[in-house]
Amino acid sequence: MQNNNPLILVVEDDRAIRSLIKNTLEIHSYKSVAAENGQKALLQITSYHPDIVLLDLGLPDMDGIEIIKKVRQWSICPIIVISARTEDNDKISALDAGADDFLTKPFSVEELLARIRSTVRRLQYSETESFSREEIFKNGELVIDYSAATVRLGENQLHLMPIEYNVLCLLARNMGRVLTYSYILDHVWRNSLDGDVSSLRVYMASLRKKIEPGDNRGKYIQTHIGIGYRMLCVE
Ligand code: CA
Repeated sequence: MQNNNPLILVVEDDRAIRSLIKNTLEIHSYKSVAAENGQKALLQITSYHPDIVLLDLGLPDMDGIEIIKKVRQWSICPIIVISARTEDNDKISALDAGADDFLTKPFSVEELLARIRSTVRRLQYSETESFSREEIFKNGELVIDYSAATVRLGENQLHLMPIEYNVLCLLARNMGRVLTYSYILDHVWRNSLDGDVSSLRVYMASLRKKIEPGDNRGKYIQTHIGIGYRMLCVE
């Protein structure tokens, strides 16, 4: 990211929404470029290398999910998908194709800015901590020592079941991204037969009791009902 002033590409065919988003970004001192269709979006991504892409899924010339798949062949740039409330399956396909986050239409300006801030925070975090390569993961009081396979919360060593540990590591290595149920099941359970959404929920409930005790519920892990889970980047 250049000069802590991220460049955001807005991909949206609806002119009113596009200019609302662009104006909002400009007022809040973000740099932005815009594209009204998929072809242009791909061109802009190649030529400008934006730090964040806001991508409407319903475009006139191309399915937004195709764009994500294409971009993911060569770029890990964060993609925040924008879609209508009724399109839960589209959100899931978009996340599984490699989108990082989603916003549901209609959304408020505050919601949009909050998503962008949290993405920027994660970009800064991954630049400074290079957390994907580190042996120790730290997020607030939560500490994972990957080489020793241990987890601490503050001073307390936690006792996690192997599946809880594997889910936690997967969420940590993808901090800030919404991971879908099927993504988690594929990565944690692999070919085992007992991997299904209801057992995942049971393990998540148990994991959360351990890492979010008392009134800390929701501090580290955000639930997206019907979609999946995300680890939040704690200040
Ligand atoms: Ca549209």
